[in-house]
Amino acid sequence: MLTAVASARAILTSLHEVMASRSGAQAKLNRIVDVIGENLNSEVCSIYLLREGMLELFATRGLEQAAVHVTRMAVGEGLVGTIAQNIETLNLAEAASHPDFAFRPETGEERFHSFAGVPIVRRQRAVGVVAVQHVDPRRYEEVEIEALQTVAMVLAELIANAELIDDEDVAGVPDHLTGPDRLKGQTLVKGLAVGQAVFHQPRVTIEHVVAEDTEAERQRVYRAFDKMREQIDRMASQAEFGVGGEHEEVLETYRMFAYDEGWSRRINEAIDSGLTAEAAIERVQQRTRMRMRQIDDPLLADRMHDLEDLSNRLLRIVSGQLGTAASMGLKGDAILIARNLGPAELLEYDRRRLKGVILEEGSLTAHVVIVARAMGIPVVGRVRALRGKVRDGDILLVDGDQGVIDVRPAPSLVEAFEARFAKNRERQAHYATMRDVEPVTRDGQRITVMINAGLRDDMPMLPLTGADGIGLFRTEFQFLVSATMPQRERQTRLYRDVLEAAGDRPVVFRTVDIGGDKVLPYLRHNEGETEENPAMGWRALRVALERDGLLKVQARALIEAAAGRTLNVMFPMVTEPWEFDAAKAVFESQVAFLRKQKKLLPEAIRYGAMLEVPALAECLDILAPRLSFLSIGTNDLTQFLFAADRAHPKLAERYDWLSPAILRFLARVVRDVAPFGTALTVCGEMGGRRLEALALLGLGITRLSITPAAVGPVKELIRKVDLGEIRSAMDGWLRAPQADMRSVLAQWACAQGIDCD
Ligand code: PEP
Ligand code: MG
Repeated sequence: MLTAVASARAILTSLHEVMASRSGAQAKLNRIVDVIGENLNSEVCSIYLLREGMLELFATRGLEQAAVHVTRMAVGEGLVGTIAQNIETLNLAEAASHPDFAFRPETGEERFHSFAGVPIVRRQRAVGVVAVQHVDPRRYEEVEIEALQTVAMVLAELIANAELIDDEDVAGVPDHLTGPDRLKGQTLVKGLAVGQAVFHQPRVTIEHVVAEDTEAERQRVYRAFDKMREQIDRMASQAEFGVGGEHEEVLETYRMFAYDEGWSRRINEAIDSGLTAEAAIERVQQRTRMRMRQIDDPLLADRMHDLEDLSNRLLRIVSGQLGTAASMGLKGDAILIARNLGPAELLEYDRRRLKGVILEEGSLTAHVVIVARAMGIPVVGRVRALRGKVRDGDILLVDGDQGVIDVRPAPSLVEAFEARFAKNRERQAHYATMRDVEPVTRDGQRITVMINAGLRDDMPMLPLTGADGIGLFRTEFQFLVSATMPQRERQTRLYRDVLEAAGDRPVVFRTVDIGGDKVLPYLRHNEGETEENPAMGWRALRVALERDGLLKVQARALIEAAAGRTLNVMFPMVTEPWEFDAAKAVFESQVAFLRKQKKLLPEAIRYGAMLEVPALAECLDILAPRLSFLSIGTNDLTQFLFAADRAHPKLAERYDWLSPAILRFLARVVRDVAPFGTALTVCGEMGGRRLEALALLGLGITRLSITPAAVGPVKELIRKVDLGEIRSAMDGWLRAPQADMRSVLAQWACAQGIDCD
């Protein structure tokens, strides 16, 4: 018996000669069926190619020649059609006993018992089938099947070069990749979007299958493996693709695969058989896919997904196609698909064309989701195994309201979606009319409603929403979108532009909050230092105080930008009061310096702190008298209160912002700062959700800073609420809270005629 390598190599050598010959495409196909038949000792070898949606017999050895270009099968019809439809290999000792067998008398195939067929795949679509048949009823050996699969790859290249198939022909794609499909996930940002699927990390298209120089290909794969292993090791220390979450588990699996001897050996063998490095990686991946498909185990399916990811990474390295879809630019309305993204990666995309995002992981308060929310881009998260269900360019309807994605939707569905789109636009238009409406409660209390922002592009949202100001300007976004540390002049320019655009309305600048899931490639830890828990690690004010150059530069930029105006500065992640003092001192020393320089200074500087770390709540009596304002960052606060990573997909739905623990905690903060008269704002995502906003009003919070899209809905809510009533109701609930406070609040809202969806 032949070894896999020897048989594939013998076939490839002959095929190489055929392909290099000057004969026409048909003559080449005729020769190829002979080569395969001879090498696999098969009486029959046939090639079917897709033409006008049908699989047509293009060449055969062993069947009646009269059947060539006559025998045609629909995709899904007979064994050949089934192989194309499912993109799956069949290996049968007795072809006629298979339920899909369809006898074609013109071929004269009745003499042959055994049958093996392999799909010819191009760009994830079956464009043909190569089949062998034998008189004796026997199953083909695995090595023979593998040789046939290698041949199918070569044929795919030959067929494309010879333009034997129409690249636009979309038949021959398996049902699970052609028909409509519906995927379910978790709503992360509401809204509707339609567009074409774009993978953040695009699949590599393999152009050359047959190697010119086997040794050179081997070296390419070795180098790629080294680089990939380096990347995985680095990722493990930096948590490049999402902090917390499942990344550790995933990385462990990645590492296991990356160092798996079996995997690299099989790729090497495929190279030995004469394939290019790219084709060898793909070839081995096909084999794994085929094996895994036979095992029905969700855990294994997950691992399979990891291996796909890694195999794709190896392919990208070896082929040098390293860029993300952002670097190639979006061509039309796009729905971006990724396992996970950092906020900076999202910001690299063209905002005008990016219409929606689908993540395999993700959580409500991950920064990428906050950025998408601010951009008004719907996001559905926690949708698994997307690569197996969606192809590049598929039309997708993203229903961020329901957390549902329709893949390749039927026209009737698109129509219904359009109608909902129109309704949504109407609703948006309605909220837009609320721009000049004051957020006053039924009992006459004026609530302050501000927006969260982070980029120059966010500024138009201020006049559009009619918000009272910017309650949180996340200055680190400028750092995230830069390839290098933004120089002081650039920072000053941004802050000045922001203040000018805001006019009379206040802007609260938060000093850089780097770390956690906001990773700066140019601001690394010291060599060798890694973080187990970056969200609780070296981030925000902790970085700023240690690298005080960073804070000094920012302080100077802010002070200069606010010359002649009031400057509002807020420090993130203050854990102990002295940290606030230290940060303030950095600003004050810059003021002193600029004063000496006789520079125009801000009229006033108001210093505030963010309450995100529960420990600070114990020291509010010490801190509050020193503050001009306090802002509660509920995103971080809740992750620390619950000890639940805000970016962890498995914890995304576990704890509720309306739980008694959060509500009681916030009530206590309100009570503790009240004697000092410190302005108290909530600036986490919580305040932008209506039911949560209602709860905050009930707790006595009268200042909210929220995502711009929420301003209209929250203003509408405020105008329907009687503050006295919700406060006394909340007092009662907090004394004897129920486990499901969400339902309690929803029922109360409903009884008051307040729509809190
Ligand atoms: C928060 O933690 O609630 C907050 C507003 O800050 P960020 O989301 O940027 O961490
Ligand atoms: Mg925070």
